[in-house]
Amino acid sequence: MAQEQKRDYYEVLGVAKGASEDDIKKAYRVLAKKYHPDMNPGDASAAEKFKEASEAYAVLSDPEKRRQYDQFGHAAFDGAGGFGGGGFDFSGADFGDIFGDIFGDFFGGGRRSGASRNGPAKGANIRTSVRITFMEAVFGVEKELELTLKDPCPKCKGTGAKPGTTPETCTKCGGKGQVVFTQQSFFGTVRNVQTCPECGGSGKMIKAKCDNCRGTGYVASRKKIQVSIPAGIDNGQSVRIRDKGEPGINGGPRGDLLVEVIIADHPIFQRDGYNIYSAVPMSYAVAALGGTVLIDTVDGKVAFDVKAGTQTDTRVRLRGKGVPSLRDRNVRGDHYVTLIVQVPDKLSKEAKDLLKQFDEMTGNSLKAAENAGDGGGFGDGDGNGPGRPGGSGGKKKKKGFFG
Ligand SMILES: [Zn+2]
Ligand SMILES: [Zn+2]
Repeated sequence: MAQEQKRDYYEVLGVAKGASEDDIKKAYRVLAKKYHPDMNPGDASAAEKFKEASEAYAVLSDPEKRRQYDQFGHAAFDGAGGFGGGGFDFSGADFGDIFGDIFGDFFGGGRRSGASRNGPAKGANIRTSVRITFMEAVFGVEKELELTLKDPCPKCKGTGAKPGTTPETCTKCGGKGQVVFTQQSFFGTVRNVQTCPECGGSGKMIKAKCDNCRGTGYVASRKKIQVSIPAGIDNGQSVRIRDKGEPGINGGPRGDLLVEVIIADHPIFQRDGYNIYSAVPMSYAVAALGGTVLIDTVDGKVAFDVKAGTQTDTRVRLRGKGVPSLRDRNVRGDHYVTLIVQVPDKLSKEAKDLLKQFDEMTGNSLKAAENAGDGGGFGDGDGNGPGRPGGSGGKKKKKGFFG
């Protein structure tokens, strides 16, 4: 097969196969910064590396595509998949968002890198967080956030220039928003690209500032925003609300609002992925004889039949009583319950006597040291203690030990 040898995507990004989404993003961020065409003007091999890393990231950052890649390798995207052939199709990968995320921080101020230096560009994403309860995470919840959002100034329509005047093209960068300067170094001539310090990258200069927005082009106000948090969301995951980020630049679309969800601990339930864990006490009698215990689940109490002779720390599974899947809320994880035998710490005299009697019938563990007969050990108690009524217990004890 004379097929072009493609490098493994994990190898391209320099991450392990099981790398987390976060690690993949971090690795790509480093490579993207290093090889970005803006950082390496005219360097074809850097451009090639940038493309390779971007392609790897587009696949590995998408859970569905990553799953396919893990299963089928590059073959997953041959042919009609969009990645085949010579070119790489960024459209399937929502690449605009990825770039917004990565370069939004990198270049600061929400100005995205790329082709459109002072053309329309998507506004920066805004990040915020919201605290919800364990139960709200399990079943989903609507939350209202209040935050300060910028809107284009109505008076100057976002230009920042006093009404009646217009912004002028920046003379320093000629309207490009970036300046290139060359430096001689040991390795040869290095070309550096910088955001224009004069216009801050907008490519425009405002002589007479709009007094409503003091030339910024934006006005900020408190806004209430509804967030629909889906059932099954996990701690640290974010909900993306489109078009509630920073305003776009030069007529570009708004950025997005990313709301990170922080889930409070629950007094009874713990969670791992879509499964829930809890511990439930059962009495010695129920453990020994069998019986019913009531178990708290996120759906309410469930009566569970304990089998006779159940040991402490036995774990049982309540199928489908876990957290709904984010993709399909009808698919739910399980609830694992650890049954723990409770030892009573307050017994009446009568109950104590019965328990001693019971012990004599089931191995005489209370007298184990005395019966061992080696005289060594603990306690010089009065030996004859409360006596041993009857001999029937003795037989059972022998059976227990030697039978
Ligand atoms: Zn204004
Ligand atoms: Zn400029």
